[in-house]
Amino acid sequence: MTTAPKVLALKEIEPPSALAEALSSEFLRPLRIENPPPVRLARRPAGATWGGFCSWQDMAEFREVTIHFDAPLGQESWVMVEKLRGTYLHEIAHRFLSKLPVDEIGGSHGPVFFALQLLLFLRAGEREGGRPWAWHADLYDLHDCFGDHPCTPGQALDWAFCQAAELLADTEISAESAAGEIARRFAIWREAMALAPAKRQAAHAARAEREAVLVRKATHVKWWICYSIMLGAMAGLLAGLLAA
Ligand SMILES: [Zn+2]
Repeated sequence: MTTAPKVLALKEIEPPSALAEALSSEFLRPLRIENPPPVRLARRPAGATWGGFCSWQDMAEFREVTIHFDAPLGQESWVMVEKLRGTYLHEIAHRFLSKLPVDEIGGSHGPVFFALQLLLFLRAGEREGGRPWAWHADLYDLHDCFGDHPCTPGQALDWAFCQAAELLADTEISAESAAGEIARRFAIWREAMALAPAKRQAAHAARAEREAVLVRKATHVKWWICYSIMLGAMAGLLAGLLAA
């Protein structure tokens, strides 16, 4: 049975009531998380725009993720609940991948991360007003694919969406196991993508050779036709002369 995660609050921050609502067992149950990572609340550093972070595995004693909490300042409670949920889902996707070397998963915000976070969003269902959580996925969550990468961002998005939406989200696999499964599939896919240019070059060279052979044959046939016409004409001329 899914239980709500432990809250590791700093002394000066009282866990807001919105946190209990945000990370209720009702919200977490469809996500199929075996062991929901605990939450550490921290005040947002001056100038920081991010909602939280996931520290390195060996720096998180309880596998926790950190969520920045600011005083609500007149925000409606559902807005606070959605912010907390969005941050928690993003950071636990990092946590579930934190044992894997970043270069093996295409970057901290690469195809594997995008696919796993999307799986969590899809399982989370709908946000306030019936908007799907899946719409919360952002190109920021894939930004390590913009640059020197064996695949284009479009290919990465297509692959990640397929893994999450078409293959894994509706299965009973736990979120933690899905992280490993997506990473395993990514290694296979990346290898295929890296080979793709060489395969395309080989196919292109083979096609060019086939076409060259056809051209040579066609040229050969063309000359034989010319010879035949000339011989036919000469034979006709000779026959005409003999008959004259
Ligand atoms: Zn992130």
